[in-house]
Amino acid sequence: MKNEQTLILIKPDGVQRNLIGEIIGRFERVGLKLVAMKMVLPQSDFIEKHYTIDPEWRRITGEKTIKGYRDKGLQPPFDDPYKITEIILDNLKKFMTAGPVIAMVWQGVHAVKIVRKLVGGTEPLSSDVGTIRGDFVLDSYQLSDTDDRAIRNLVHASGSIEDAEKEINLWFKSEEIINYKLISEKILYDVDLDGILE
Ligand code: ADP
Ligand code: MG
Repeated sequence: MKNEQTLILIKPDGVQRNLIGEIIGRFERVGLKLVAMKMVLPQSDFIEKHYTIDPEWRRITGEKTIKGYRDKGLQPPFDDPYKITEIILDNLKKFMTAGPVIAMVWQGVHAVKIVRKLVGGTEPLSSDVGTIRGDFVLDSYQLSDTDDRAIRNLVHASGSIEDAEKEINLWFKSEEIINYKLISEKILYDVDLDGILE
């Protein structure tokens, strides 16, 4: 359980806005351990592979977008979720290949869910205050769709343990992931907290 891993990407907008340190700091301070990191210039077909690693992604993301519109009393651009994700995927390829991306693997208990919580909901307009997407950016489905581009929300984080495993395999070779101890893990996970007092 303590070794659960998740993939985090700082998207090109996060790098361009000088938020690398700020974003990494959020995962460090919660107690997760960074076990792999690199800067990458991804290719377009690699981005398609990344986003379609979950066979349900096209349906889920399309439905989420439609709900995002309806919740605000707005009409979505299409009623067919697959039509929506076809456009999203095209725009994601342009967005994610526009500049360097930071790819990281973070490890710790409940890493996938903890990271999703810290990252916040997909649409910055409605992501919670205190989350990365809620605190550092202000995009919306409405604006990004009007401008025919991907939502700029600074980070990607795996949605499930299963996706995390597949995404980590896609972005990293096994030898790029480092197995090591952090002193802070003793306080986070050690049952007896022995070894503190002299
Ligand atoms: P998340 O990144 O929160 O897991 P999704 O997997 O549903 O979100 O979508 C992947 C990425 O595609 C989002 O982070 C965002 O950049 C972009 N995206 C999703 N929905 C839309 C949309 N309706 N319009 C533009 N871009 C979108
Ligand atoms: Mg996702």
